[in-house]
Amino acid sequence: ESADEQLRRERIFASAQERYYERPMQIERGWRHHLVDTTGRSYIDMVNNVAGLGHGHPGVADAVNRQIRILNTNSRFLYRELAEYSERLLAKLPAGSGLDTVLLVNSGSEAVDLALRLAQAATGRKTVVALREAYHGWTMASDAVTTSAYDNPYALENRPDWIYVADVPNRFRGTYRGEGTGPAYAADLGNDLAMLAAEGREVAGFICESVLGNAGGVLLPDGYLSDVYARVRAAGGLCIADEVQVGFGRMGSSFWGFEQSGVVPDIVTIAKPMGNGFPIGGVVTSKRVADALASQGQFFSSAGGNPLSCRVGIAVLDAMEQEGLQENARVVGARLAAGFRALAEKHSIVGPVHGEGLYLGVELVRDRATMEPASAEAAAICERLRELGVIVLTTSERSNVLKVKPPLCLTAQSADFVVAQLDRVLSTGW
Ligand code: PMP
Repeated sequence: ESADEQLRRERIFASAQERYYERPMQIERGWRHHLVDTTGRSYIDMVNNVAGLGHGHPGVADAVNRQIRILNTNSRFLYRELAEYSERLLAKLPAGSGLDTVLLVNSGSEAVDLALRLAQAATGRKTVVALREAYHGWTMASDAVTTSAYDNPYALENRPDWIYVADVPNRFRGTYRGEGTGPAYAADLGNDLAMLAAEGREVAGFICESVLGNAGGVLLPDGYLSDVYARVRAAGGLCIADEVQVGFGRMGSSFWGFEQSGVVPDIVTIAKPMGNGFPIGGVVTSKRVADALASQGQFFSSAGGNPLSCRVGIAVLDAMEQEGLQENARVVGARLAAGFRALAEKHSIVGPVHGEGLYLGVELVRDRATMEPASAEAAAICERLRELGVIVLTTSERSNVLKVKPPLCLTAQSADFVVAQLDRVLSTGW
């Protein structure tokens, strides 16, 4: 059946359509942090950061079921669900941050597009600065700031001239490998801004993830983001935090990724876990920035902010609070990270363990001194883990980091099982 399904895909879909594994899995059901394939085999899902609450959440299912029978329409009417959800969402932003206005769309890519548009509209400028190795989406504008050579080789040659790509402060790889400090890296970005201004390309916005997701969950160096934000603002630009992956409780010790760096962005993009699999995306900003959109016409999205997605969004926030999922991410994430770090003492292929909460990356290297990536090994290890009932996949430019972003309901018992299975694979070979 699986082979048939694969042929069917190849006939119907573009060859560029991404899928996990050479031999893709055929999934039938999901429950909490488990996925079940068509043969009835169950796996621990360590990669699904969309289903933040876990798969098949009854609160979300009930919200969909109830609301779709009552009303679903577009946001050009007045209905209470839109304001109710938007107020709930705003209550999650730091008090006094000035982030008091919501625009709802349907995906992370749309949210990033809208954020870029807002920065340009509010500043009357064009230039956007993004960091190397980033993933921000696949629509034309979000793709333009997707600087990862792995995800977007096309853009390396065809980057629109309103994008400037700055060096990424990744202490583990590339230009900034080593012991430099956050403020020193930020000073380099400050020089870039001065150079752009001298060329008449004044900055409209700076976009980055508050934790380097595509690099494998690498934390930004201390003092980097606050210093960069200050420099971007001094140059008249706006700071955009892409929280599509890091936000919404995943970090454990904070609801948003940017809180880890003690900063407040001007524009925040949100998506993936907002709807626990139901498509919702959004941008939160200040009224001043949001109102600047009027200079570009009206804002409207047929399905963005519809009553159904708003009800789902409310159900997600209810469940997060009632089930203590952010706290669970903190506790279980720390246990998992400690487990992975203990493996590094036994197995030389395990390099640095990145991240925080349930947003971790286990970097596999052939040599810790040179950090030569163990890319082929990482792929083979993922295959072996699959056979042992654990779904973990790779990320980073060199596909040598195991990405660990499970639903936030992951239990300590399952976390221990995953570490034990990885230990088994590393001990017995792959
Ligand atoms: N920004 C980040 C940081 C992401 O990780 C992603 C998705 N991987 C996006 C934006 C795009 O979101 P979507 O796939 O919902 O369009």
